[in-house]
Amino acid sequence: MAEPAPWTCPTCKTGVLTPFCPLCGEEPLKPIDLTLRGLAEKLSHALTSIDARVLRTARLLILRPGELTLAWTEGRRKPYVAPFQLFLVANVIFFFLQSLTGINVFSSNLHSHLHQQDWSELAQSLLSSRLEVTGTSIDTYAPIFDRAVVLNAKSLIVVMAVPFSALLPLVFLRKRQPFMLHLVFSLHVYTFLLLVFCLALLAAKACEWSGIGGLDTPAVDNVLSVANLAACALYLYVAIGRVYGARGAMRVVQAIVLALAVGVIALGYRFALFLITLYGT
Ligand SMILES: [Zn+2]
Repeated sequence: MAEPAPWTCPTCKTGVLTPFCPLCGEEPLKPIDLTLRGLAEKLSHALTSIDARVLRTARLLILRPGELTLAWTEGRRKPYVAPFQLFLVANVIFFFLQSLTGINVFSSNLHSHLHQQDWSELAQSLLSSRLEVTGTSIDTYAPIFDRAVVLNAKSLIVVMAVPFSALLPLVFLRKRQPFMLHLVFSLHVYTFLLLVFCLALLAAKACEWSGIGGLDTPAVDNVLSVANLAACALYLYVAIGRVYGARGAMRVVQAIVLALAVGVIALGYRFALFLITLYGT
């Protein structure tokens, strides 16, 4: 960048020799900045640079597993979207696709909890004692539950990243890493998973349309679950090599353990949503 003529920062009132004020980041005012055209240029620059940053970040996340976590912990942060923001963007896309396809991955409705889950028996007895306490019938309660569980699933998905990040220091006990690295890695893994879930949603919808059956068909559900888990294990295998320096046979074991943990956490999350919704409505 060319060195500008010395200017005085209008905010700090100090003389500045660099393109931006080193104290507050202000840049010298140009005549065009006070025109509508200048405003339009600034706006389009801001929008395209957000797009470019999101795309660059998504590409790195998908094509070079673990690299984004390294960039973040080494302080190369400016070119990329921060981990939590990126996670939120993936959340928005995921929930948008869920409402578009009408398929719910985590927010199973009351009927599904009572009849299709591993904890259905427990769910039935918890529900009947809850209905007794509140004095409502299942017919009035079911729609209330179904509305609330969708909202809870939206706001609580980040909860899954927490137990995963707590597991990482145990799996990589020999590598003493700051907890922040585990947390950022966990957020990146879950962001990637949300994108995988998006693909799974589209695949499930395609199966539904082609007449094979949707996610409530056991075969479709099983194939997609196994595909999700395999994608997750493969991704983790590459990523832990880069971030934790995992090598050899141990790396395979660690990738499998972490992928299984993701599956268990997802099941636990579904059950936790049931409890939270049951006692929160
Ligand atoms: Zn300044």
